[in-house]
Parts: sequence; C-alpha cells; structure tokens
Amino acid sequence: MKIYFLLFLIFTLVGCSSNQLVNLRTAKDIVKDYYESGKYDEEMNEIIKDVEEKFSKVVVKNNSAVIFDVDETTLSNYEISKRLDFGYDHKIVQDWVLSAKLPAIKQTKELYDFLKSKNVKLIFLTGRLAEEYDATYKNLIEEGYTGFDTLIVRNDEQKKIKTQIFKSGIREELTKAGYNIIGTIGDQWTDLEGEYHGIQVKIPNYLYLIED
Ligand SMILES: [Mg+2]
Repeated sequence: MKIYFLLFLIFTLVGCSSNQLVNLRTAKDIVKDYYESGKYDEEMNEIIKDVEEKFSKVVVKNNSAVIFDVDETTLSNYEISKRLDFGYDHKIVQDWVLSAKLPAIKQTKELYDFLKSKNVKLIFLTGRLAEEYDATYKNLIEEGYTGFDTLIVRNDEQKKIKTQIFKSGIREELTKAGYNIIGTIGDQWTDLEGEYHGIQVKIPNYLYLIED
C-alpha cells in the first residue's frame, strides 16, 4: 500500500513538473506571437483607454507632472530583442540604443499627446546612462515625443543604485522642487514603486524583468 502511494506521489510530482515546464523555443514563440499577432496592441489599447479616463478626472495645475520611463514604455526594443532571439548582448543593445532609431510605442505616444494637450508637464526618467543622453533625446524627439519638460538619466554616481531607489529618489527631488507628480508610467514595477508616483500605469513587458 505504502509503495503504491509512493509511486503515485512520484508520478504525480514528475507529471506536474513536466507539465509546468515549457520548452524554451515554445516560450519564445508564444512571446513572439503575443507581440506580432496584435495581442500586445489589444492589451495596450485597453490600458491606455482606462488610463486616459483616470487622468481626465484629475484637475491639472501648472505644476502637475507625469513621469515616463523610456525603454519598453515609450520606445520599443522589440526589434533588437527578436534579432537576438530574445537573448541579450550588451554591445549590440548599446549600439542599437545609440543609433537612436527605436520606434515609439504608439499607445504610449497617444497618452503622451493626450497629457500634453492638458498642459501636464512631461518628464522622462530612465535608467539609461549619461553617455546615452544625446541619443535618447534625439530618439524621443524624432519619434514625436516633443515639448517635454526634462529628460533625466543616471549620472556616474547613480550607476550602481538600484532602479527603484534611483527613480523614487528622483521623484522625491522633483516633488521637493515643486512638481506635483500626478502619474508615473513604466514597464517594470521598479519604475513605479516607492513614493510620489500618482496614478501608476504598468505597461506590459514580456521580454525581460528588472527586479532591483
Ligand atoms: Mg523600461
């Protein structure tokens, strides 16, 4: 009796674990399909529609500001990620960032324009580095993100700080400088957690996860 129970247990556990595992090729194809079949656009359309409704209820003052992250929030790295078979190569990705040719994420651009029409101050806050500032600035402008208030990147001293600490620290500084942050938009929870975020908008990202 005991041995049958043990065998049952082993088969159940083995069965469960193999059912939960997905072949890496399959996982990549699922992600690729999500981005290319229109499902990503559908999810984004829903999110932005809902967020615009929330922001339309906010009374905008002359110090009201919204913070946007850059990668996978306003500009897309999908193309380079796919070219690398959803892997990562620091040099190739850096060259891609410096090329300043990343396409805008159209739904975020729509939200940006909506907030701009309401005279909200628009601030980009990114974990990108100082040496990537010029390319980032150029890329944003060329993709139509014009008329923003500030673009903030990490300086040399901030390189080793965890993203969440860096970003919430900057939001605190901005608040103390007189900005009233009414919203924060990002594809990672590390973009959104901490204080002084206003309405939090989580953009989907199935390509990578930044947890610190
Ligand atoms: Mg990002």
